[in-house]
Parts: sequence; C-alpha cells; structure tokens
Amino acid sequence: MFENSVKAYEEAKEVIPGGVDSPVRAFKSVGGTPPFMDRGEGAYLIDIDGNRYLDFVQSWGPLIFGHCDKDIEDAVLETCKKGLSFGAPTLLETQLASEIVEMFDNIDKVRFVSSGTEAVMSAIRLARGVTRKEDIVKFEGCYHGHSDSLLVQAGSGMATFGSPSSPGVPADLTKHTLLCEYNNIDSVKKCFEDSSDISCIIIEPIAGNMGFVPADPEFLKACRELCDKNNALLIFDEVMSGFRASLKGASGILDVQADIITFGKVIGAGMPVGAFASSKKIMGELSPDGAIYQAGTLSGNPVAMAAGLTSLRKLKANPEIYEELNRKAEKLLNGLKKVAKNNNIGFQGDTRGSMFGFFFADEMPKNFKEVSEFCNFDRFGKFHHEMIKKGFYFACSQYEAAFMSTVISDEDIEACIEASNEIFKNL
Ligand SMILES: *Cc1c(COP(=O)(O)O)cnc(C)c1O
Repeated sequence: MFENSVKAYEEAKEVIPGGVDSPVRAFKSVGGTPPFMDRGEGAYLIDIDGNRYLDFVQSWGPLIFGHCDKDIEDAVLETCKKGLSFGAPTLLETQLASEIVEMFDNIDKVRFVSSGTEAVMSAIRLARGVTRKEDIVKFEGCYHGHSDSLLVQAGSGMATFGSPSSPGVPADLTKHTLLCEYNNIDSVKKCFEDSSDISCIIIEPIAGNMGFVPADPEFLKACRELCDKNNALLIFDEVMSGFRASLKGASGILDVQADIITFGKVIGAGMPVGAFASSKKIMGELSPDGAIYQAGTLSGNPVAMAAGLTSLRKLKANPEIYEELNRKAEKLLNGLKKVAKNNNIGFQGDTRGSMFGFFFADEMPKNFKEVSEFCNFDRFGKFHHEMIKKGFYFACSQYEAAFMSTVISDEDIEACIEASNEIFKNL
C-alpha cells in the first residue's frame, strides 16, 4: 500500500537529513513511513502509491480553500509569466498590505517576509528596538518558528530564564527568553518581578502547537495590562490562527488588541509568505524609515503575493465561510466525541473557526504541562496510523492542531466519523 513511499523515504534519507526538510514530516512521534505526496485535488491528497487522503493538515494550515483552488492557481500562473522575482517594489505588495491594513484597527503598516519564523524573529527585533529592552516573555508549548531566541525550554529548577532546547543555540541568547506557563497569569507576573528589562510578551492567542489550546480571554487581558504597566509590547503570533480562527484571526474574536501581529500560513495560501504588522508609530522605527534593520531578497515575492492576495480577497468577499467552516469542524469533533464515548475512551476537543484539535485525554488541557500529562500519546499514535490507512490524513502528532477547508464536504466528515468507529473499538 505504501511501497513507493517506503522506497522514496529510503532514497530521501540518503541525501536529506532524516529524509525531510522539516522534522515533523518524518512521522517520528507516530511511527510508520510518511507518504510522499504526488498531488492535491480539492479536499484530497494523493500519494505516489495512488492512495487518496482527506486532508486535515492542509500544508500545516495555509490551504483554507483546499488544494488547487482555481482562482489562486490562475493568479499564480498569470503572475509567473511576468517573471518570478524582481527585487524591486511591485503593486501586488501594496495591494496585499492594503487589504490587511483595512481589516485591522490596530494595524497601519505591514512588512512581508518569506516565513512565519522570519516574521516572528523580525517582530521581536522590532519590539526590542522600540522599547530598548532585551528580555522577551514566551510560553511553554507555543511555537514561534526556529530562530535562536525562541528555541528554549524551562531552565533548571525554578529559574524563569529559559535554556536552549536545541544544540547550537547559545545560552547567552536564551537567557533573555523568560518562559511562562500558558493560561497562568501568576507565572507572567513573576517574570515582570524578576526582570525590569522585558521588551515584549509573545503568544499564540489560540495555541495550535501544543495541540489545540485556546487562551482564556481573561488571561490575555491580564497579559495586555502587564505589558501596559511595564512599557512592554504585546505580540500576537497569528501565523497559524490568522485568517483561520476568524477572518481577523484570534484578534477578531477577542477584545484584546496586540501591538504587533505576525502572520504566515494562510496569508500565502501555500506560497512562502510571512508578515508582521503594527501601528504607524512602531513600524516607523523599521528600516529604511527608522534604524531597526530587517530585510529579505525574496520578501514580497510577486508570485507569492498574488497567491496571498487572491486568497485574502476571496476570504474578505465571503466572510460567512468561517461560520460554515466552524460548523463542519464541530460536526466532525462532535462525531468523534460520540464515538469515543461509546467506546469509553477519554477524548477532548475544541474549535475556533476553521481551526480545531482533539486530545486523547479525560480532561481538556490548558497548557503544555497538562497536554503532556493528560494525554495518551500511544492511543493517538494508533489512531493516526489507522486513520491514514483508511484515507484520513491528520497531523502526525498529538501536539498539532487540525484544519477544516471550504472543500471538505459533509459527506467527507460523515465518512471520517464512520471510519473512526472501527478504529476506536480497538484503541
Ligand atoms: C508555523 C508557525 C510558525 C513558523 O512558521 P514557518 O513558516 O514554519 O517558519 C510560527 N508561529 C506559529 C504560531 C506557527 O504556527
């Protein structure tokens, strides 16, 4: 069933570390061989053995309209013909920036980059540059890309200051990253007591990288207040939740406003795009207007901008799709919950717009520690493995979120619930 993928994986491992260009793709936490993909068709992925999968990963978030959306495809093809990159301004960048600025009261200017990692890294430099302070507050379990300052884990003992979570990251850098517990405001208060040099709090307001764990609105409000009191900036990392949780991301469903927002994933519709955005005042400090340096040879790439612009305009023209996406996400989740209950299996889950997630746990976790403690990872691994065999492609880790796309039908969802019925019996 996976013959070609097994062979391809062996060959890939000879020339690419672990056979993949991003570690999660190797299926290490669930086992088995990752299927190598040949193509997408709407709601489906087709691998090189010809297996078809209903896709709940959607390239880890970007493909809210599914694969090969005609409008996005046409825009990309048309733009390609005029050249792939100029390293000079194009109209498309202004158009995409304008679409975003128009949507958010707290955003006047946008700078485009090529990945979420870059967006966050640049946003943090901006926050440090603007406040002239060096420490940052980050939450355990939130992922903000793989830049040095953000690859931290809890330090030894009760220390607030993070230590590197990867070899190659200097401890001198991570000592400026203060690690807190998600949804625990006391841990944030303690950081502000320990350090008077905090430039910003960075947070996924709806976390999708420790599994799906939304922040409590009161907790975010308290973070906002701590920032205001201590002259620090609040950064919402909406690389995943942006244009996903609602048209305006988490910002659209919370009454807390961030000072800087980072975007990625949906903003490029499958092409490499990231962005960070803020007020005129803060963005005014960015080079070339200001002194804070940030740059990129392929930033604002026209083909990528065309994809993002087409996708964003479609979303803005049809804001009602979020309700529909959420209805479908809830339908799937409720179906799975029922199957789990019938089989006496602890199962929790939640949705926000087109983002959703579930845990094999008896109680809904509220932070990374609880995810690690409450969840049955073996059970998830088996579920994942069996679902793949039945043609349902979920993210290959309990620590990931899932996504609904506009092209997934009610029949697709019903088929998924039906398939899970047989699987849960043997979990
Ligand atoms: C995916 C993700 C990133 C990193 O984006 P890349 O494009 O993979 O560099 C950063 N923050 C969040 C919240 C993400 O989900």
